[in-house]
Amino acid sequence: MKSPSQTNAIDFDSAKLQRLGFGQQPPLLERPVSLAQLRQQLGLQLQTSLEPQRILGLFFREIQRLVPLDALSYQHKTSDLRLEFGQRGHHSVSYSLSHEGEHLGELVFRRNQRFNEQEQGNLESLLSALLYPMRNALLYRAATQSALRDPLTGTGNRVAMDQTLQREIEMSRRHLQPLSLLMLDIDHFKRVNDSHGHSAGDEVLKAVAASIKDQLRNVDMVFRFGGEEFLILLSNTTREAAAMVGERLRFAAQAQEYVADGQSIELTVSLGCSTLLPGESAESLLRRADSALYVAKREGRNRLAMAG
Ligand code: GH3
Ligand code: MG
Ligand code: MG
Repeated sequence: MKSPSQTNAIDFDSAKLQRLGFGQQPPLLERPVSLAQLRQQLGLQLQTSLEPQRILGLFFREIQRLVPLDALSYQHKTSDLRLEFGQRGHHSVSYSLSHEGEHLGELVFRRNQRFNEQEQGNLESLLSALLYPMRNALLYRAATQSALRDPLTGTGNRVAMDQTLQREIEMSRRHLQPLSLLMLDIDHFKRVNDSHGHSAGDEVLKAVAASIKDQLRNVDMVFRFGGEEFLILLSNTTREAAAMVGERLRFAAQAQEYVADGQSIELTVSLGCSTLLPGESAESLLRRADSALYVAKREGRNRLAMAG
């Protein structure tokens, strides 16, 4: 469980986002507690959920009563899970979580101030509260994954998309936070199939899905919407921030190398973006992203269009 490492890296990307006002709200801090109290409370709280996002979100919020943080990131490669909370910081400590030989993911705590020895000791001690909840959540995820994932690309399927979109719309209303949606479609994908065959097409689809996931904080928000179309849900993201993410996805898809029978393929994507309006339904939000995508195609492809 222990393998701390201090690193010093200035993150220009997050600094830029903060300057532009895209940072997240800091969590509300309750009164400080002792390590023993906090461990006990965490033990009770964390076992109430089987969702990694919720478990780690609670963990990130609660441990700050003892150790203030700027960010927490989590990655579990085997289950294709990556989550980020907060805004990142210059200093970091990382831990590899494991339980009885089972790997349960990598955690990185970040903040702008260096972590002292006592704080690292506290973090290590608090991490133990994560072991059982995370192990159960990962087991649950593995059991449900096949029903909710597209087997080719590993992104969420339509069932997952419907559930998640409904949940995110409710969250957005309840917390008065913006919710944006990107609809992404590969340009002239039929040509790839026609010139290189269907299985080369499948490889390209996988590569595009991987490039989208690489760019996002939460890979659970990417869904295969249709044949060569993907939907990306951006929670707590304004229209302007969503446009930036969309452009980043477009550049990444274009920069990626695609190879079929030794030949490299040029590929671009088009995107449509919509942001939830007050009282708007899921259908309408999707329809507006789709119309924007249609505009992007009509205006020449390899571009992002915003819904009106
Ligand atoms: P546009 O730029 O207008 O989007 O053109 P396009 O060729 O990408 O779009 P179109 O809708 O004409 O064709 C999409 C193609 O995607 C047709 C279909 O055969 C192919 N396709 C859909 N699902 C899969 C799949 O799972 N694997 C492969 N290899 N091809 C697929
Ligand atoms: Mg297409
Ligand atoms: Mg299409």
